[in-house]
Amino acid sequence: MSEKPEKFIDENGLRLDGRKIDQIRDIKIEIGILNRADGSCYLEFGNNKIMAAVYGPREVHPRHQQKATKAIVRYKYNMASFSVEDRKRPGPDRRSIEVSKVSREAFEKEIFTELYPKSAIDIFIEILQADAGTRTAAINAASLALADAGIPMRGLISSCAVGKVDDTLILDLNKDEDNYGQADMPIAMSTDGKITLLQMDGHLTQEEFKKGLEMAQQGCREIYELQRKALIDHYNNTQKEIIQDAPVESVKDISTESATEEDPVISDDVPDNGNTVNDDEIKEDIPDEKEEVILDEDEDNPAIVSDETEDDTLE
Ligand code: ADP
Repeated sequence: MSEKPEKFIDENGLRLDGRKIDQIRDIKIEIGILNRADGSCYLEFGNNKIMAAVYGPREVHPRHQQKATKAIVRYKYNMASFSVEDRKRPGPDRRSIEVSKVSREAFEKEIFTELYPKSAIDIFIEILQADAGTRTAAINAASLALADAGIPMRGLISSCAVGKVDDTLILDLNKDEDNYGQADMPIAMSTDGKITLLQMDGHLTQEEFKKGLEMAQQGCREIYELQRKALIDHYNNTQKEIIQDAPVESVKDISTESATEEDPVISDDVPDNGNTVNDDEIKEDIPDEKEEVILDEDEDNPAIVSDETEDDTLE
């Protein structure tokens, strides 16, 4: 274990790793990299390396855990034994159970669980390399893996910590700052600014708490922008791959007027997981005969016809 540094902030106001006091570590995001998960994300947050996988909505086992009116959310945070300096004993411990519980609660209210009664949404986190702030980095990764799995959510959850070293508030602590600092306060925040997780280790005055909270909220907003960009980039690339793989005929079919092969048009900001079917495709799926029948019926009873058409669309 490293020695306690004499000073954490130098005369230029920079930290030992060269960051400003209100600067988050570099973030690298890769979405959708596990084939067998419904959604996944690999995220690096400074020296933290984290894998998040989401499965579901799916059947609940054991059955007695299922809820009649909503889906249950399960969150399993696990640190690999090689993720820290001294080997960590494998398996769950008090810390991982606590981190799993608070992280699950950070997501529960943000997911539309009422849409999936009697089912489970499982989030698995593997910490491959740890350097403080793993719970916050894991929440950022889980949020993207949930979006990748197409789980309906009110927004993304973004998370980072604020802390205190040398009597100064700093954003996003690294390992030494976390180990030897005076306080560590991780938070998670929804897109609309609701705090969904807040923990505190150490001491802050009321003033420091207020200022620290603002710093952490600003950090979360920056992380949200990176998450949003990563999702948009990922789905833009996925669309391009689908179009490039498809036969020339179908490329013409799914292109809109202004779209080109290099620049597919995505209808709005909501990420498209590639499974969405556009109107043209739906129309094409209806056999010609049926179209005629519908047109005939239309004259007699337009209400029935519109119902049928909707049912087809849902299928
Ligand atoms: P967080 O990682 O969310 O900041 P903690 O404050 O509990 O959570 O842990 C800070 C850091 O301490 C971790 O990121 C990790 O680098 C290290 N750490 C945590 N648990 C262990 C452990 N069992 N063995 C060695 N190092 C650990």
